[in-house]
Amino acid sequence: MDPQEFRAQAHKMVDFIADYYRDVESLPVRSQVTPGYLRSSLPSNAPEEPQSFDTVLDDVKSMIVPGVTHWQNPNFFGFFPSNSSTAGMLGEFLSGGFNVDGSEWATSPAATELEMLVLNWLGKLLNLPDEFLFNRSGNGGGVIHASASEAVLVALLAARGRAISENKAKGLEEQEILSKLLVYTSDQTHPCLHKACVIVGLPKSNLVILPTLATDDYALSLPILKSAVRNGVTKGFIPFFLGATVGTTSSSAIDPLPALADIAKEYGMWFHVDAAYAGNACICPEFRHFLNGVENAHSFNLSANKWLLTNIDCSILWLKDSKQLSSTLSTLTNKELKTSSIQSRVVNFKDWQVAQGRRFRSLKLWFVMRLYGALGLRNHIRTHINHAKHFEILVREDSRFEILAPCRFGLVCFRLKPSVKHEDNGWKLNSSLLEAINSGGKIFMTHTVLSGVYTLRMSIGGTQTKRENVDDAWKIIQEEAQNLLDQEII
Ligand code: PLP
Repeated sequence: MDPQEFRAQAHKMVDFIADYYRDVESLPVRSQVTPGYLRSSLPSNAPEEPQSFDTVLDDVKSMIVPGVTHWQNPNFFGFFPSNSSTAGMLGEFLSGGFNVDGSEWATSPAATELEMLVLNWLGKLLNLPDEFLFNRSGNGGGVIHASASEAVLVALLAARGRAISENKAKGLEEQEILSKLLVYTSDQTHPCLHKACVIVGLPKSNLVILPTLATDDYALSLPILKSAVRNGVTKGFIPFFLGATVGTTSSSAIDPLPALADIAKEYGMWFHVDAAYAGNACICPEFRHFLNGVENAHSFNLSANKWLLTNIDCSILWLKDSKQLSSTLSTLTNKELKTSSIQSRVVNFKDWQVAQGRRFRSLKLWFVMRLYGALGLRNHIRTHINHAKHFEILVREDSRFEILAPCRFGLVCFRLKPSVKHEDNGWKLNSSLLEAINSGGKIFMTHTVLSGVYTLRMSIGGTQTKRENVDDAWKIIQEEAQNLLDQEII
């Protein structure tokens, strides 16, 4: 690498990104391209000769940017946010610069030790019990994964490892145990738990998905769970994993953690809490109560890349007993263990994840936590929650609309009220409204289905989203709704 050339190219790249963030609001939020658009614009074979950086950057501008849906546009209100920040980007850049593989402590001690330190910092901001933190007395600690899906998968693997050893001790054969293991969760849980069960090799029928009700605000129902668990036990199955969510993807519902923890304990189940999105809000003391009960969980995950200003990817899993995981996933042979005295004193994060190799992700979280401070991070969360409350009021004030679930965190679930002539209970009306809103390009929203009802989701959490963006979005939604209603009259 020629340092001078790198400096020149990196400066151009920084200029490009800075301009991108300055101008992103003027770009259509949802990409307007059609499938295969890139195939017809770029050569189908890699270039034989090296090409100049400027040519590539020109292609980025003319061909890549049009195919990007601009999640960093302040008018992006879809899914859950995917925060970016200067601090996060710079940390990411530095991580790429060092480009170490921190699979083991020894392969780059700073990568492991910074991750341990920064996850203790965040754990303390969340007021997690000490058992979840790295400390001399216990086996607790956190690890950064690429996604919440991976965090949930490894939690399930740890739980499975525990269930196998406990039941082997009771004299059962491994194959028999595996066929009897049951996972319990609600129909609002993110499908990543279903995927994890498939990867772990659990038969489909061993994942018990419990129905939720609008009257419970879509939280996991205790009577339904209790009866399902009793039923499983009566039939000779082994309930081994209970998956709860704080802030479901669909409507930000909150499962009743303290009571669920009691049920998990009664039946010896591993209790996991997925708070990928909403957990971030719990760094604010006034929202911490949503996590009450996590002290009785075995594992807990949160994605700083969703709502804590840390560029994707930065999904964190905390465990109280990391040994359950590392003993399940360790690739160390006994001989290696014996020959290295260091191994007994260090954390090797490769044993806490699927892949062997791992990126130096903690750098970006460390930059974020230092450049914002706890105050800045809390301010970020509170601003969005206030915007969401404001939006909820706007919706409630317009009698053509209705709110469909409690407004929690930065999410508002609502719809345009159907009339008796809408025989599909407003499905077409609201799906047409969403398409009209999104095809305009100025804002972007997504939908969910709650109790069979097509529901619009206004998810507020973009790093650059201001109150004016929320007000402007509401005007667009109202205008498009009126257009639709007018067309129906004609
Ligand atoms: N859990 C919850 C509650 C989520 O909202 C999501 C995604 O939005 C996930 C898990 C999956 O996250 P990932 O895409 O990082 O795997």
